[in-house]
Parts: sequence; C-alpha cells; structure tokens
Amino acid sequence: MTSSDIALKFDLRKCVQCGKCTASCPTGRESNLRTRALVFRANSSDVSTERELWLCTTCYTCQERCPKGVKITDAIIELRNLAAEKGNYPSIHLTAIKGLRDTSDGFPITPEVSKIRSLLGLSIEPFDVAHSDEEREKFRKLFQSLRIIAFLEERK
Ligand code: SF4
Ligand code: SF4
Repeated sequence: MTSSDIALKFDLRKCVQCGKCTASCPTGRESNLRTRALVFRANSSDVSTERELWLCTTCYTCQERCPKGVKITDAIIELRNLAAEKGNYPSIHLTAIKGLRDTSDGFPITPEVSKIRSLLGLSIEPFDVAHSDEEREKFRKLFQSLRIIAFLEERK
C-alpha cells in the first residue's frame, strides 16, 4: 500500500483543514505533533520519514472529533506500518520490543525511577509480568512466533 492509497482508504481527502484534530490532540500540547498539518501533508506526499508520525499515542481523540469523519488515527497507524516496512522507525521501539522479549519489560525500572517511586511511597518495583518466569516464557514464545524483531532488524 502506498501513502496515496492510505489517503484514499482513510478518507484523508475529506479533510477541510478545520484544525479540530490539532486542537483536541493531547500529545500536540507537549510536542511538535500538529495533526491537521500532518493530514494535509499526507494528502499530497509521502510522510513515512517524518518523526511526527511516531509522536501520536493513538488515543483516537482526533478521529472521534473530526467533523468530516476522517479516519485520522487509523491512517497514522497504517502510515507507520508503511514507514516501518521501509526501515523508518525510531530505534527506541526496537529497544523496547527487545526488552519485552528478554525481560517482559519494555522499559525496565532504572535506579533513578526506583528512587522516585520510593519518594512517592510506592514499592520500589511494581509487580508485573517480568517477575514471573512462567509469564516471561510466554512472552518469549509470543515474540518468537510474531517474528517482529527479525522484521524490524532486516529493514534497518
Ligand atoms: S478535524 Fe478532520 S477535517 Fe478538521 S483538520 Fe482534522 S482531519 Fe481535517
Ligand atoms: S490519536 Fe494521535 S493525533 Fe489523534 S489526538 Fe490522539 S495523539 Fe493526537
């Protein structure tokens, strides 16, 4: 699928540039993500190398509020798939996936985070799947069957 196919499939061409998506985007308040502008560019060019694509948290707020029914979040997810196929994905994602495979923890708790948790009166490490050998093994098998790591590494 090309970026032009994605624009058609998810109705990006219906966009009237009202800006409601940008105004309602929680990530845009804290980052450079400008959803309206991203939709505009995706209508006329290949945005698969753009960093903004990866700032979206896929919360779906923009898609729910778009007055023209543009499937913005669905399009962003598909555009990311296209970008990943070309090797244009942030390397932190591969690090997180490898962390999940190896420890069942995408971002293991660092000593700094443990310290903050302690100051907040929380347990040093939250209970999660990383504490169970049985669950860790399930994760390892899952990642083996998905072959996602091989897929991403082959494209970098
Ligand atoms: S809310 Fe919908 S119509 Fe308005 S700018 Fe965003 S995508 Fe376009
Ligand atoms: S789905 Fe992405 S672009 Fe849309 S509002 Fe949420 S963070 Fe912003």
